[in-house]
Amino acid sequence: MWDNKRFHTLNYELKKKFGEKIYKVSLDGGFTCPNRDGTLAYKGCIFCSDKGSGEFAGDRRKSIGDQIEDQLKLIEKKFPKGKVIAYFQSFTNTYAPIEKLRKIYSEALSHPRVVGLAIATRPDCLQNEVLDLLEELGREYPIWIELGLQTVNEKTSQLINRGYSLEQFTISAENLRKRKIPFVTHLILGLPGESKTDILKSVRFVNKSKSWGIKLHLMHVIKDTALHEYYKKKYFPLMEKQIYIELVVEILEILDPKMTVHRITGDGTRDTLIGPLWSLDKRSILNGVDKLLKEKNSYQGKFYKED
Ligand code: SF4
Repeated sequence: MWDNKRFHTLNYELKKKFGEKIYKVSLDGGFTCPNRDGTLAYKGCIFCSDKGSGEFAGDRRKSIGDQIEDQLKLIEKKFPKGKVIAYFQSFTNTYAPIEKLRKIYSEALSHPRVVGLAIATRPDCLQNEVLDLLEELGREYPIWIELGLQTVNEKTSQLINRGYSLEQFTISAENLRKRKIPFVTHLILGLPGESKTDILKSVRFVNKSKSWGIKLHLMHVIKDTALHEYYKKKYFPLMEKQIYIELVVEILEILDPKMTVHRITGDGTRDTLIGPLWSLDKRSILNGVDKLLKEKNSYQGKFYKED
């Protein structure tokens, strides 16, 4: 049990480390992405919005310090004084000259309420000099990297235009592990054409990669993305709520109990979400997962097998 939860939450992990509740504030560092600027492609991953998958991040026209202040204002009522992790969420947050990266990360870390960084990026944007910088900062502050793997299925990775190979992920994961830089792997559940067997195969791969954490996203269609176009043409079925809850429980049961679970739902905004619309009610999904785990008397790692 992790603080009365049946899975190993980020909340539990951060409380253990800092002795208090820690929030995250989502920032837009003004980056782009090789999968969007024409280096690899222009359209990006099929589900990526014009916000670079940072729907709730700060305003990129503002400084990092001002974005942190804006985000703190949004959580002021429930969290007036505590510490936060600065989460560089939008686009590819290691895709810039090294001096720009140092400046932006340092600006966030200099805010009196920021205690660490979470940096979303791609495995093909973690060259040695970036790893050197992360390792250096990581000696002083808690830092982790977030990698959007989404699936291990080669056919699906082409369909979603991920733009890097599974081998590239494995190499970067190994490089991060060697330098003791924790990383979180993102998977999307319900990608077109994927069966439950495909999804569980991706989860077992994440177990094997010795990822520090995992984020499970429900596949959701955002307005005006390439996925939206594809959805209009093919009209594939979107996942139903109860099926999703059962799937998340099954994933938690085979997940390494040491792995920190950062998220188990999707993240669309009300005005841009095409579907599934039930995903807007995050609380009921979280409650549904807790309830089912309890009913089954189950927990994270119940059926985990180390390979
Ligand atoms: S790697 Fe991230 S920012 Fe780049 S296209 Fe894919 S989802 Fe968008």
